[in-house]
Amino acid sequence: MAITTGRVLLEARGVTKYYERAKHPILVLDHIDLAVEEGTFVALLGPSGSGKSTLLRILSGLSAPTEGQVRLGDQPLEGVNPQVAMVFQTFALFPWLTVLQNVELGLEAAGLPSKVRRDRSIAAIDLIGLDGFENAYPKELSGGMRQRVGIARALVVEPQILMMDEPFSALDVLTAANLRDELLDLWLGKKVPMKAIVLVTHNIDEAVSMADRIVVLGRDPGRVHSDVRVTLPHPRDLKSEAAQQLVDDIYRVLTQPQAPAIQVPPVERYQSLPHVRIDSLNGLVELVQDRGGREDIFEIGRELQMEIDDLLPLVEAAQMLELARVEEGDIELTPVGERLAEGDIQQDKELFREQLTQHIQLIQDIMRRLEQKPEDRLDWEDLHDELQQHFSADEAADQLETAIDWGRYAELFAYDEDSRAFYLEPEPTD
Ligand code: ADP
Ligand code: MG
Repeated sequence: MAITTGRVLLEARGVTKYYERAKHPILVLDHIDLAVEEGTFVALLGPSGSGKSTLLRILSGLSAPTEGQVRLGDQPLEGVNPQVAMVFQTFALFPWLTVLQNVELGLEAAGLPSKVRRDRSIAAIDLIGLDGFENAYPKELSGGMRQRVGIARALVVEPQILMMDEPFSALDVLTAANLRDELLDLWLGKKVPMKAIVLVTHNIDEAVSMADRIVVLGRDPGRVHSDVRVTLPHPRDLKSEAAQQLVDDIYRVLTQPQAPAIQVPPVERYQSLPHVRIDSLNGLVELVQDRGGREDIFEIGRELQMEIDDLLPLVEAAQMLELARVEEGDIELTPVGERLAEGDIQQDKELFREQLTQHIQLIQDIMRRLEQKPEDRLDWEDLHDELQQHFSADEAADQLETAIDWGRYAELFAYDEDSRAFYLEPEPTD
């Protein structure tokens, strides 16, 4: 089952790996397909020997697949993956170098001036809570502090993807919990530069408490057994019923490799509104009507002197609202679109009300909540938080801005800028 949301940063396609052992090669990974998407925290979970580390090494270009391919963006990966930084279970620090020197080593290959290297290293050290330890040697540090050095050394190169192979397994329980929380804080608070994290772990709780997606590798030979999207909000309560259910499901899969894959309802993509104003949309519909109800989109762009990038969102909005269809590069009005082109302003509003409530998910959500609990405030902040399950913070704000513009025009609801609250339009009094 393939689950996709964001842009694919890194992808394994049909990755198969054999290791030579004694006389017979052993199959460790069997046709693994895995796409790492922007904005996701992926956990690779599996029993010891299921090929997790092997897959991570192949994705990072440290080892080559026997068959299949790794793709970085739209290119096949050749050699070491420049977008990846790795954190290992054993901290692999140089005992004769200080914390600062160990971190700076991460930048050695980058050919940066020493001042820049130093500044960036100090920033990474501060970020991960190691300030004050710059000049300490590894032997003076606890395990948790040593792993922080390992993480700082990875962060300092500002990787697109942070990969971690059982980074908390060598730590005591409390230290591990603390470091997990801090790392998650940095990631969720967007204080770190990477666009995705891939964490290898055999710890189910760890995967369920941190990841957006859990890819369960089965053994004999390594295949993707289940691919589960985790939508529990942060901070996660592992004792909650939903979390426990997920932990149980994964436990069952790990202990009974023949168990059927975990069934999660397919994640529907939340509809993404093109950011266009209603009057521009009206303008487009009227123009197409003037051309007899159908016109070449490219022609319209030329006539309006609009870049295609500006025109397409309008076309997309017209389709979304079923005011028009697109066929062979032409835009053609639907009967509703024709009515819109001919109506007066009140008829237009009526028509928009109808189309918005039928076709626009975010408007439906807002209306349902306002109608179910008319006495409660509906806050911009709450909607914005929820939308962040589907969009970045900025995009969530833009989505709301568009929904507010459309909903206001259609007089479906009102929005008060000062209190940042939505409410139902008062019934017209007459
Ligand atoms: P995991 O990280 O899930 O524990 P690994 O990827 O380390 O699994 O190993 C998967 C299998 O491949 C194991 O059976 C292991 O013994 C074998 N293996 C790993 N690395 C090598 C290697 N360099 N040469 C031969 N066999 C290896
Ligand atoms: Mg391993």
